[in-house]
Amino acid sequence: MKDCNQCGKCCIKYSDGALSASAQDIDDWELFNPEIYAYVNAGEIWYLPETKKLLQLCPWLTAIENTHPVKYGCDIYLDRPEDCRLYPSRIDEMQRDGCEMLEVKDLKNPKKAQEKLNKLMADSHHG
Ligand code: SF4
Ligand code: SF4
Repeated sequence: MKDCNQCGKCCIKYSDGALSASAQDIDDWELFNPEIYAYVNAGEIWYLPETKKLLQLCPWLTAIENTHPVKYGCDIYLDRPEDCRLYPSRIDEMQRDGCEMLEVKDLKNPKKAQEKLNKLMADSHHG
């Protein structure tokens, strides 16, 4: 299992309406981060504030300059929604998503890889 290389695939895949924020996230944004709260519509993320239209791509995903292949950052990393904090959580999901943390040996032994991932996520604030 490699470290996340910020390829952005997970954000790009899931940010068009497939992500959820917790009620706590939304309450916190309303109080402390109105600029994030502006993109919430009826408890769902991410919607353009002006039109209330569902966005195809997360508004907080930013390509980092001069990176080849391009790496992505999250502009609200410390305040990102629950689904983003909890990713990745399952080897099969990572495989489906083409997550670049996976190595050949993880695919050969997904059970062991899952144990490694569980530990990694429990140990880090990524999770
Ligand atoms: S909020 Fe951050 S982590 Fe979540 S999809 Fe957007 S850029 Fe990715
Ligand atoms: S798909 Fe995997 S390697 Fe790429 S940004 Fe997401 S967690 Fe990181």
